[in-house]
Amino acid sequence: MNITLSDIHAARDRIAGLADRTPLVPSAMTDAFGVDFLLKLEITQPIGAFKLRGAMNAILNLPKETPGVVCCSTGNHGRGVAYAARARGLRAVVCMSRLAPAAKVRGVRALGAEVRIVGNSQDDAQAEAERLVAAEGLVDISPFDAPDVVAGQGTIGLELLEQRPDLDTILVPLSGGGLAGGVAFAAKAIRPDIRVIGVSMDRGAAMHASLKAGYPVEVEEVPSLADSLGGGIGLGNRISFPLCRDYLDDVVLVSEDEIYHALQTVYYEDRIVCEGACVVGIAAVQTGKVQLSGPTATIITGRNLDMQVHADIMAGRDVALGDTTVRGRRYEP
Ligand SMILES: *Cc1c(COP(=O)(O)O)cnc(C)c1O
Repeated sequence: MNITLSDIHAARDRIAGLADRTPLVPSAMTDAFGVDFLLKLEITQPIGAFKLRGAMNAILNLPKETPGVVCCSTGNHGRGVAYAARARGLRAVVCMSRLAPAAKVRGVRALGAEVRIVGNSQDDAQAEAERLVAAEGLVDISPFDAPDVVAGQGTIGLELLEQRPDLDTILVPLSGGGLAGGVAFAAKAIRPDIRVIGVSMDRGAAMHASLKAGYPVEVEEVPSLADSLGGGIGLGNRISFPLCRDYLDDVVLVSEDEIYHALQTVYYEDRIVCEGACVVGIAAVQTGKVQLSGPTATIITGRNLDMQVHADIMAGRDVALGDTTVRGRRYEP
């Protein structure tokens, strides 16, 4: 299973006007970082996250007689699938476990999808999705490990190099690797010398552990300020793991304290409200884990966050994460 640059061009044509081309804006961090630093604002997508690109490309590319789609997701992928299925007039079922927050369930329902609440884990929800594939002929849309999904996310790489052909480095938030794999593949097909670095949180970084091992491994999922970066890559991963292995220059990890500070920075300096997952690239530069040598872009991937937690961080208050606490501190540049 391979993707090609022409798959990514085809994806761009297919999703044009449905998943938006997003702005690339200069960041106030440019002075502090000493190079042009740019933010790709995927928070301006209709569902508030980039996942619409991959979901839209996959769903528009299904055969006419498809009875509907199903996925298991508690977050942005579920929103993307619901929105894209509605645009094509298809039935969508999103399977979630009982742990899914009520606000997330409402968000997916509001986009017209049926929500099935099953079991107490993502694995239970995935089992229900597989049952619906077998019983009702629905098509399962993977959040990161399907060629059409990766090609859709890769359209961000095409846009970045059109908007700034002189980019030296792209910093990509990394979880299952559909985004990082697609962007790195597209960018390097056009500019082989460009540097693409994946960034994850240091607790439960499944792709990082898998790349170190040389094959997909499981890691324990723990709560993080970057909740959209949680979860495994699938032990049977076929697409996003080889792409990240072959096309990423490096994978860097940042801590919860570093994410906390970077969220404050992007809010107080750039006036942007976004999820913890978005700021891992900024944290990697702030901590000196990545050195910049020319114009750099990072992807502000989504804004579907708990606003109470965001307000707490901006006020410098503590944030509870499962059995640990991220210590609060007031923002200082
Ligand atoms: C899904 C997601 C990511 C990571 O994308 P992968 O393709 O799983 O690596 C990053 N940020 C946000 C907001 C997401 O929803």
